[in-house]
Amino acid sequence: MLQFDKLSLNIPDTTKPRVVIIGGGFGGMNLAKSLRNTDVQVVLFDKQNYNGFWPLLYQVATAGLEPDAIAEPFRKMFDGFEDFHYRMVRVNKVDPTAKTVTTLIGELHYDYLVIASGTKSNFFGNDQIKKYSFPLKTIPEALNVRSQFLQCFEQASVTTDPAERESLLTFVIAGAGPTGVEMAGSLAEMRKHVLPNDYPGLDFSQMRIYIVEGLGKVLPPMSDEAGQKAKRYLEDLGVIIKLNTLVEAYDGETVTFKGGEQIRTQTLVWGAGVTGAMIDGIPAESTERGRILVDPTNRVQGLTNVFAIGDIAFMKLDDYPKGHPGVAQPAIQQGEHLAKNLRRLIRNEPTEPFKYFDKGSLAIVGRSRAVADLPGNIHLGGFIAWMAWLFVHIWYLVGFRSKLVVFSNWVYRLFTYERGTRIIIRPFVRKDDKVGQEIVAQNEVS
Ligand SMILES: Cc1cc2nc3c(=O)[nH]c(=O)nc-3n(C[C@H](O)[C@H](O)[C@H](O)COP(=O)(O)OP(=O)(O)OC[C@H]3O[C@@H](n4cnc5c(N)ncnc54)[C@H](O)[C@@H]3O)c2cc1C
Repeated sequence: MLQFDKLSLNIPDTTKPRVVIIGGGFGGMNLAKSLRNTDVQVVLFDKQNYNGFWPLLYQVATAGLEPDAIAEPFRKMFDGFEDFHYRMVRVNKVDPTAKTVTTLIGELHYDYLVIASGTKSNFFGNDQIKKYSFPLKTIPEALNVRSQFLQCFEQASVTTDPAERESLLTFVIAGAGPTGVEMAGSLAEMRKHVLPNDYPGLDFSQMRIYIVEGLGKVLPPMSDEAGQKAKRYLEDLGVIIKLNTLVEAYDGETVTFKGGEQIRTQTLVWGAGVTGAMIDGIPAESTERGRILVDPTNRVQGLTNVFAIGDIAFMKLDDYPKGHPGVAQPAIQQGEHLAKNLRRLIRNEPTEPFKYFDKGSLAIVGRSRAVADLPGNIHLGGFIAWMAWLFVHIWYLVGFRSKLVVFSNWVYRLFTYERGTRIIIRPFVRKDDKVGQEIVAQNEVS
C-alpha cells in the first residue's frame, strides 16, 4: 500500500531555470511542446495523464467514438523530450512569494510558473443541479452520459409504466453553445438511424430531445447567421428548442424552468456554463469573474514570473474587452507565444505582447449540416461547412493514430450510419437509485 510519507514528486534539481506548467490542455501542451530545445527544465502537472481533444467529447458521449480516439497520453506525446517531467497530480496551491506549488505528494520550487488549468462546469451555486445533472467536461463525464443514454433505452424497453417510459425517453440539454448543439444533433441522428433498429419494441416517435438556452439565440458565441442556420438544422432533425429559458431546478426526475414550466426527464445534460479552474494562492486582486487577470504578455497582474494562458486567463484588450473567447485557438496561440516570451526573459530581452489571430469558428449539427463563421465576415452553412468541420477536427487532433481512428470511423459511418460504440462499459447509477443499484449488483454476480 502507498504511504504518503514515502511519496515524492521526484524532480531532479538542475542549474537550468525550471518552468512549472499546471495543466496540459490546449494551452499547456502547446507551451510545453514549444519549449523543446530550450535550455530550461519543464515540469508539467496534470491530474489526468492525457491531453483531451474536447471538441469531439460529445461524440464519446453519443457513442460515436471511443475515448482513446480523442486523447493522447502525455508520456507518449513528450517521449524523447530532454529534461521534461510529467507528474499525474493535482496542484492544490501556489505560493507566489515562496515561488512554490503544492500537491498532495509534495511541493516544488519554480523559476517560472504557468497556470493553464482551463475551466470547470459552473452550476451557479445550485447544488441540486450539480448533484443530478450530467456535465460534459471530461472523459469520465462523457462515459457517464453515454451509459446514461444507453441505460435509459434499456430501461424504457422493460418498464410497463408509460409515464416512466416517457421520462426515460426525454433528454434535456441545457446550453445551446456548440457542445449542446452538437450533442442534440447527434442524439437526433441516433434516434433516426440507429435506435429503432436496436430497440424494435420501442416507439421512438415518443423520444423528445430538448435544447434549452438562457439567451435569445442558438450558438450565442457565433454570428446571428450561424445561429439561425443551426436552429433550422436542429428543428429539421426534430429537436425542440427553448430560447430565453433558464433552468431553475432539477431533482433527477423533473426539470423546472424559471417561470414554473416543468419537464419530466431522467437526463439533464449540463452545458450551460463554465468558470475558471482556479488554483488557491492566486491573490483575489489578480482575479476577476473566476479568471486570472493577465497583461498582454500573459503575465499575471501583480505577480512576478507567474503567467496564465488559455481559458483561465483574462486578458482585457480594447478589441477583446471581455477577454478572448473560451475556445481552443487562443489557448494554443498563447501557449506558443509564451514559449517565445519565456526564452526572451531568460535571455534578458524585452517580451512582446500577444496578438490573437482569429481563424473563425465552426459547429456541427449533423451529417451535411454545419455552420462556420470565417474571418472577413464570411458565413458558411450546410455541406461546405460540414466538410470544413471534418477537415479542421482531423487536422488539429493530436497524434497520427487518433487522426486515423477518427477518420476511418467517420468514413465508415458516412456509408453505414453505424455507431459501433454503443457499449455500457461502466454503468452509471445514482447513489439514491436503489433499483438501479440492485440491477447493477445482480449483473455483477458471477
Ligand atoms: C465539451 C467541450 C467542447 C468544446 N468544443 C470546442 C470546439 O468545438 N472548438 C473550440 O475551439 N473549443 C471548444 N471547446 C473549448 C476548448 O476545449 C477550450 O477553450 C480549451 O480546451 C482551453 O484550453 P486550456 O489549455 O485553457 O484548458 P484545457 O484544455 O481545459 O486544459 C486544462 C488542463 O488542466 C488540467 N487541470 C485543471 N486543474 C488542474 C489542477 N489543479 N492541477 C493539475 N491539473 C489541472 C486539466 O486536467 C486539463 O488537462 C470545448 C470544450 C469542451 C469542454
